[in-house]
Amino acid sequence: MKDVLLIGAGGVGRVVLHKLIQNSDVFSKITLASRTLSTCKEYQEEIKKRYKKDIDIAQVDADNVDELVELINKTKPDIVLNIALPYQDLTIMKACLKTKTHYLDTANYEHPNTAKFEYKEQWAYNDRYKEAGIMALLGSGFDPGVTNVFCAYLQKHYFDEIHTIDILDCNSGDHGYPFATNFNPEINLREVSANGRYWENGEWIETQPMEIKMVWDYPEIGKKDSYLLYHEEMESLVKHIKGLKRIRFFMTFGESYLTHMKCLENVGMLGIEPVEHEGCKIVPIQFLKTLLPDPKTLGPRTKGKTNIGVVAKGIKDGKELIYYLYNVCDHQEAYKETSSQAVSYTTGVPAMIGAKMMLEGKWLKDGVFNMEQFDPDPFMDELNKQGLPWNLKKL
Ligand code: NDP
Repeated sequence: MKDVLLIGAGGVGRVVLHKLIQNSDVFSKITLASRTLSTCKEYQEEIKKRYKKDIDIAQVDADNVDELVELINKTKPDIVLNIALPYQDLTIMKACLKTKTHYLDTANYEHPNTAKFEYKEQWAYNDRYKEAGIMALLGSGFDPGVTNVFCAYLQKHYFDEIHTIDILDCNSGDHGYPFATNFNPEINLREVSANGRYWENGEWIETQPMEIKMVWDYPEIGKKDSYLLYHEEMESLVKHIKGLKRIRFFMTFGESYLTHMKCLENVGMLGIEPVEHEGCKIVPIQFLKTLLPDPKTLGPRTKGKTNIGVVAKGIKDGKELIYYLYNVCDHQEAYKETSSQAVSYTTGVPAMIGAKMMLEGKWLKDGVFNMEQFDPDPFMDELNKQGLPWNLKKL
């Protein structure tokens, strides 16, 4: 039985909390800590009502290493789950190192003042984590996360070499608002308004935002416009997948979302630099976040499904083959189970599974790792048991 400190009481954190409680044979004492204590209290009540179980709660500023160290020393968890924002990755990793505690997150570190993410600064912790005898598991959400595990599974069982990978992320959910994002608006809009990038023959090729579009027929959803974006799992997959020649990432967006985003961008509302407004400084994208619906309130009103998967082409025994491995998740089913919509659900479930893999010793090594560096089989089994069953098709 292991103790967990979960940091971040947002949409994803709520799902992680439900899933930890549902797996109480592995996770015993759970402490939920976040910047706003009232949300932790609200989730604590929700858990009491639904499962007749209690959790501990705490207030923490996860940008502050000393506060984090104090909280970790007080709660003495076996693992810290960072389900706050990418901005907090390095402070939480640092606090875990100081207290020799295992670490897990779902998103790559990003500096608030630069809309760019890369693994360099997190990978730089590898030697220090090794020496301390602790592990960090990076990107244990769906994408990154399950998509990395899907690639490792295809590589292990279906190919001698994978030559091309397309990661395909579709959300056909409708929340009824003219414009809202399904996870943290600031992080989401920074990601999708940035230049696109894909990797081919050893080089990164940059594109304009939304420059490359294709139509994909998503099982259980149908045909959707899908746009090439840069996504963080590609950075580690190019290092770990044998024989890879090209990897791309596509995400679906509706016309209305793109028109709203373009309009907001054109008037400067996606800006990350502070601007002077009537004697005070505001960051436009942070102000926009305040105006937009909070993703954790979208659960009851979002209907439809997500379909996220991987199409891999390669060779097995000299023959060229294409496989499509994907999961379909229903927003309303996710809401019934965890009070959160499917985007939070598909991220939170793999975060719990990653922690389970580590604490059960199935994925436990000293150092800093990405998901595809471990045996995918036990994780794939858990996906089927924990609410994210997958499908494999030969194309
Ligand atoms: P939310 O904005 O809903 O939640 C983030 C939570 O972190 C909030 O409760 C917030 O507190 C808390 N927080 C923010 N800053 C601090 C701080 N300094 N100290 C303590 N707590 C803090 O985001 P989501 O739940 O939508 O996303 C959570 C994470 O999941 C993000 O990193 C996101 O990028 C990642 N993600 C990963 C995906 C994947 O597939 N890998 C997909 C979707 C999301 P407060 O309420 O006070 O603001």
